[in-house]
Amino acid sequence: MSDRTIAAIATPLGESSIGVIRISGDNAIAVADRVFFAFSGKPLSDLKGYRAAYGEIKKDGAVLDDAVALVFKAPKSYTGEDVVEISVHGGRLLLLDILRLILENGAAPAEPGEFTKRAFLNGKTDLTKAESIMGLISAKSDTELRLSRAAHIGKTSKKTEEIEKNLIAADASIAAYSDYPDEDIEGLDPESFLKMLKNAEKSLCEMLSSYDAGRIIREGIQTAIVGKPNVGKSTVMNMLSGCERSIVTDIAGTTRDVIEETVNAGGIILRLADTAGIHTTDDKVESIGVELAKSRIDSAELVLAVFDCSKPLDSDDTSLIASLDRKNTIVILNKTDLENKIDRSVFTDFRTVETAAQSGKGYDLLIKEIADISGTASLDPDSAVLMNERQRACAVRALDGIKEAYAALESGNTMDAVGICVDDALSALLELTGKRVTNEVTDEIFRRFCVGK
Ligand code: GDP
Repeated sequence: MSDRTIAAIATPLGESSIGVIRISGDNAIAVADRVFFAFSGKPLSDLKGYRAAYGEIKKDGAVLDDAVALVFKAPKSYTGEDVVEISVHGGRLLLLDILRLILENGAAPAEPGEFTKRAFLNGKTDLTKAESIMGLISAKSDTELRLSRAAHIGKTSKKTEEIEKNLIAADASIAAYSDYPDEDIEGLDPESFLKMLKNAEKSLCEMLSSYDAGRIIREGIQTAIVGKPNVGKSTVMNMLSGCERSIVTDIAGTTRDVIEETVNAGGIILRLADTAGIHTTDDKVESIGVELAKSRIDSAELVLAVFDCSKPLDSDDTSLIASLDRKNTIVILNKTDLENKIDRSVFTDFRTVETAAQSGKGYDLLIKEIADISGTASLDPDSAVLMNERQRACAVRALDGIKEAYAALESGNTMDAVGICVDDALSALLELTGKRVTNEVTDEIFRRFCVGK
């Protein structure tokens, strides 16, 4: 617990009907009582928790705004401390004025993520739930929102705790063995010991295998769309995106200045870095650019390679095909509405989708292939999914610990040595949920939050 009482604006600074300022700490109610005056005449300190009062914010007797103050008493609040949330009109200057007044009356400005950090330190939330808040707030698709919600209601914590239980039980049986190595104790049963490790390993592998798909849902997938000019790359993109296509940076006048364009393909964001050339169909200098295509292919997670069915393949197509990786490429055979002149046998090893992009034909198939190849098709958005690189790194460390425990067993090491590996796995999991975590890690996590969260 910190002895600082903190305050911050909890809503975005803009023009909105309501804006909220949150105060948390031992003096939260006393501070609020210096600036908020209820029409009932009762101070907030007379209120029980979960009670609201209607009144005015006053500075030196002058009214700044009318307001509703909501009182939460420790430990029944977001942070686990006394909290007052003051709702006023949502004007930028108004909120800043009232925050300043609150700071002048005894509160300190909250640091980024400090409210949630206090909630964590006071045992109101674990780290996976706290980290899911970022996703809840910034979700850009329904699937991302569902993933964040699943983590927020504790799916990841629960699954992690189940793994922990297996490892704690494995640890306990080692401890029993070490204490009484010559006696016949239940804890010695190598079969059940291995079963505990296997259960833990299986759940960790499940969580790790869905990580990439979850990341793609949250961050999108780096995509290269390649193919000769006029094969229909732009038309395919338009078909995929409908209206949901955005150019993030577009300096007028030249398509070469486009830095990143995103296309929402059925809920998966395709990040099309460096789309220069895609729109410049008349630009023969840029045009064929197999070298350019190759460099795009190298840096992409997903490659959409478009070919025109109405023309026979030429040497540019052949060298493009040679540079494609079957694992991350979808071949799009476009213009199927025209007479076929392409030799399809060269694509037999590839995932292929036939489209007539101009009329929208092939849309569903293409969306399905994109979901399949990116792993998002098999992702259950309501399941326990690791939300960020920190969580993944902890899960990888835990899995490594289990693998080392197997290796130690196989090579006939002492049970104490096996136990050290199990302990390593366990401490990685305790760090994942935050049950055992250093101050440095905690500080680093909450520094990434915004002020007011
Ligand atoms: P890009 O240079 O690869 O981006 O190609 P565009 O998307 O600009 O398309 C080139 C030309 O092919 C345009 O005139 C499109 O209207 C046309 N086109 C694109 N897709 C189809 C299709 O499926 N069928 C037919 N018949 N024409 C298409």
